Amino acid sequence: MNIYGMTRAGLCKYFEEIGENPAKAAIILDGIYKKGMTDFSGFGFAERNIRRLSEDFDFALPEVVEKRENETAAKLLLRLSDGEFAETVLMRQRFGNVVCVSTQVGCNMGCAFCRSGLLKRRRDLTTAEILGQVLLVSREFSEEISGVSVMGIGEPFDNFNAVKDFCELVTDDCGFAVGRRRVTVSTCGIAPKIREYAELPRPCSLAISLHAPDDDLRSRLMPINKRYSIKEVLDAAEYFTKKTVHRVTLEYVMLRDVNDSAEHAERLAKLIAGRDFYVNLIPYNSTDTEFRKSPPERVEEFCAVLKANGAVATKRREFGAELDAACGQLRADYLKKST
Ligand code: SAH
Repeated sequence: MNIYGMTRAGLCKYFEEIGENPAKAAIILDGIYKKGMTDFSGFGFAERNIRRLSEDFDFALPEVVEKRENETAAKLLLRLSDGEFAETVLMRQRFGNVVCVSTQVGCNMGCAFCRSGLLKRRRDLTTAEILGQVLLVSREFSEEISGVSVMGIGEPFDNFNAVKDFCELVTDDCGFAVGRRRVTVSTCGIAPKIREYAELPRPCSLAISLHAPDDDLRSRLMPINKRYSIKEVLDAAEYFTKKTVHRVTLEYVMLRDVNDSAEHAERLAKLIAGRDFYVNLIPYNSTDTEFRKSPPERVEEFCAVLKANGAVATKRREFGAELDAACGQLRADYLKKST
């Protein structure tokens, strides 16, 4: 087993099963994530424990095959043990560094504007591979990590258990100790999974990729909407807010002449009126799709109309465009170069 995939609960269970004190779980997490240990020799454990642990666990991490960096963003392309690739981005924000992690190799959601879906899902990432992204980013760029966005390639709720364990581990006091409100899982809107996530004892924050104010347009942009309508998704999101007291973010990517008119903004405001949501307007990272980013004045107007209609809205700063950090781009470039 990979040690980077083990939560505190998982390690406690392991120690109980081998007849050892489960308190060793916290010692292990602390040693690995706080002190950077990469084998079991420095924990002060008895020789037989060291031998047993070394037989049962490895410290394998993905291999860094490409690294790009500028003042506001940094990006790693990772090769996984079976030769697949994963991408991860570090965003240097004013209030701290946020790592954006991928959860699958490829994605099956097929959103029309998204580059990730060009590669269909080949497999899910393991908890260790998701956590490994945070670990490698902090190591490669010697940075303190204060937030995590589960917004890289893949649909997190299509890989629910690994993402759940990742959230546990990255927020563990003995692990990276990132605050739960600073870890945001973003979903295209798999309503039953949103509810399941809300039921967890300590869920992290939630963001929903909405991108359209009506089912007709949303179904054209995001095929998942044909399975779970806007109403089902927003009802599930409201349930999450009630259960957790965390306000849900609705992400809205601004696509020129597609979803960015004042009328769209009015409809969106009406849709969420009286509900405790927060709208985040995302600049489209132009790729080789048919979609273009909305001009800044259109984004301004859209935001103003939302606010005038009582919605809480902000505009997201742009990160990583010049690094080709849009979902799926780095892998595609790398493969182009190496073939
Ligand atoms: N599958 C999840 C998380 C990954 S995508 C989800 O759908 O939320 C993370 C966010 O980036 C989503 O809101 C997605 O719609 C958006 N996105 C995809 N391609 C983009 C692009 N080229 N520019 C800006 N945002 C994009």
